[in-house]
Amino acid sequence: MPLIRIVPVVTLALALSAPAVGQDHSDHDHKHGVHIEKLYVNANVYTLDPRQPRAAAIAVADGQIVATGPEARLRNLDRYGDFEVIDLSGATVIPGLIDAHGHLGSLGSFGLGQLDLSRAASFDDVIAQVAAAARAADPGAWIVGGRWDHESWPERKLPTHARLSAVTPDNPVWITRVDGHSGLANEAALKRAGISRETTSPTGGEILRGADGAATGVLIDNAMNLVETKIDRAGAGSEALLLKAQEMCLAVGLTGVHDAGVSPADVEVFRRLEREGRLKLRVYGMLSAAYTLEYFARNPPLVGDRFTLRACKLYADGAMGSRGAWLLAPYSDRPTDEAGAPYTGLAVMSPQMIEKLASFGLARGVQVCTHAIGDRGNREVLDAYERALQRARLPEHRFRIEHAQLLSPEDIPRFAELGVIASMQPTHCTTDMRWVADRVGDERARGAYAWASLLRHGARIAAGSDFPVEGHNPMLGFYAAVTRQDLDGKPDGGWQSGERMTRTEALRAFTLDAAYAAFEEERKGSLLPGKLADFVVLNRDIMTCPVGEIPTTRVLRTVIGGETVHTAE
Ligand SMILES: [Zn+2]
Repeated sequence: MPLIRIVPVVTLALALSAPAVGQDHSDHDHKHGVHIEKLYVNANVYTLDPRQPRAAAIAVADGQIVATGPEARLRNLDRYGDFEVIDLSGATVIPGLIDAHGHLGSLGSFGLGQLDLSRAASFDDVIAQVAAAARAADPGAWIVGGRWDHESWPERKLPTHARLSAVTPDNPVWITRVDGHSGLANEAALKRAGISRETTSPTGGEILRGADGAATGVLIDNAMNLVETKIDRAGAGSEALLLKAQEMCLAVGLTGVHDAGVSPADVEVFRRLEREGRLKLRVYGMLSAAYTLEYFARNPPLVGDRFTLRACKLYADGAMGSRGAWLLAPYSDRPTDEAGAPYTGLAVMSPQMIEKLASFGLARGVQVCTHAIGDRGNREVLDAYERALQRARLPEHRFRIEHAQLLSPEDIPRFAELGVIASMQPTHCTTDMRWVADRVGDERARGAYAWASLLRHGARIAAGSDFPVEGHNPMLGFYAAVTRQDLDGKPDGGWQSGERMTRTEALRAFTLDAAYAAFEEERKGSLLPGKLADFVVLNRDIMTCPVGEIPTTRVLRTVIGGETVHTAE
C-alpha cells in the first residue's frame, strides 16, 4: 500500500481539526457596535470554543451567535440595548446536539403508532401483540411492525413463524428485528413473497431454514426485500412521518440529524418542508445506495440551511445481532451454515461496487458513508476507500464508515491515516455488550466499539444513535459513551472500560465532530461568534453531575438558528 500518497490527505485532515473560524470575540464589536436580538443570561455555558470554553451569557442575532462571555460585557455590545433578555436561571447550555446516524422516517412511523415490539419480553409477548393487531385489522391487510430483540427473551433464539402463523391465518405479517437487518414473516407473508423450499437465498441475504429445509420465516439482509417489495404500505405519508420525527428530535435536544438512507421522494418532501419554513431540524441526508449513481449524475450536491444532500449511504454487510455482519473468521456461535460451510456473515454489497461508488463520490463531490459492522466488512470498506483515494487524492473526501463496530487491531490506525470518519453509536455498545462475546469470542470482542483506541490514533468519531434501533434521546448515548454501562450501572466499571470516552470527547462526538462529518464544523457544533445559534438548555450539568443522573437529564429548551423550537412544559 503506497501510504506516502495518502499523507497529504492526513495532513489536511489534521489542519482542519484545528479550531474552526478565526473570528476575534470583541474586535468588530467595539469598532462598529453590534446588534443583538436576544441575550441569554444566567447560564452555565459550555461553548467547546477552546479560547473561551465557559461563559455565562450568549448574545444572538440573525440566527447566529454574536458573542459569548460575561453578561455585563455582552449587555454593552449593543448600544441601543433593545434586545430581549432571557434568564436561564443557572441552567446548563451546550451546543446543539447532532445525531450523526438516525432514520427519521422510521422513527416517525413508531412515533405515529406502528406496532412497536421493543417491550416484548418473550416471543409469546410478540405473538400476543401481533395477534391483537391482526384482530383489529381487515382480513388480508398487512400487519407491519418492528423492534423485537430475541436477545432480550429468555430463550435468546431467533424465532420461527409456526406459532405466530397459527394465530394470524388471515393477515400477512412482517415484523423486523430491532437492528433492521432481519425480519420475521408469517406463513401468509411467505406465501405472498413466493418463498418456498425451492427458493434460494439472494446474494448478500439469507432465508433461514429449519432442519426440515422449510423457511423458518426469518429473512436476513438482502433476503428481506423478498417480502418488503410485496407490502402495500397504507397509512401516514412521509411528510407526516418526518414531521412527527422532527417533533420527537427537537424534544430531546437534537438540532441536527444525519438521516442514514433517504429516497429521492424523501428529498422532495424535505425540500418542500424547508421552503415552507416547516423544517426546523437541520437534516443532513444520505441518499440510499440504489439511487446514488442516477440521482447524482443528474443533480449536483445540495447544501441548504435546513436540508443538505451531498452524501450517499452504502451497505457493506449486515448486523451482528442477526449474524449478518461480515467477519474475518467464522462466528463463534454459528461456525458453519446449514450446508456445513464456514459461516462468516454476509457481504451485502460487493467491495468492487463500494470502490466504484467511492470513486464516483470523489468525482462528483458526494460524500460516501458505508455501513460496516464486522471486522471483515470494515476492512473491505477501508481497502475500497484506499483504492479509490489512490486514484483521486481529494483531501476533502471525509469518507465515513457507519457503525465501525468490530475492528481488527491493525485496522484501527487506518481510520486516521486515511481520514475516514468513524460514525459510531454508543448505545449499540451497551445494548450489544450482553452478547458480543457469544458471537465473536472474547479475543475478537476487544476490538468492539473501540472508541478510545480510535481517538488515541487520531480518528474522529461522530456519534449518533441509529434511532429507532436505539432510543433517539442523545442523553442515553452520552451516558453510554462515558460509562459503557447499562441503565442499571452494570457491569461495574463499564464493559471494556478502557474504551470509554471522556465527557468532553463524548460532547464533541455529538456536536463538533458530528458537524465535521457533514462538512459543517465551521457553522455548527460549538458556540462562538459567527456560528449558528443552535444550542440546548438542560436542567442538569451533564459535564459534572453524577453519571447516573445523565440519562434522566431533561431538555428545557432547544434553540435552532436563534429560534426556540422546543420548550419543556
Ligand atoms: Zn442505521
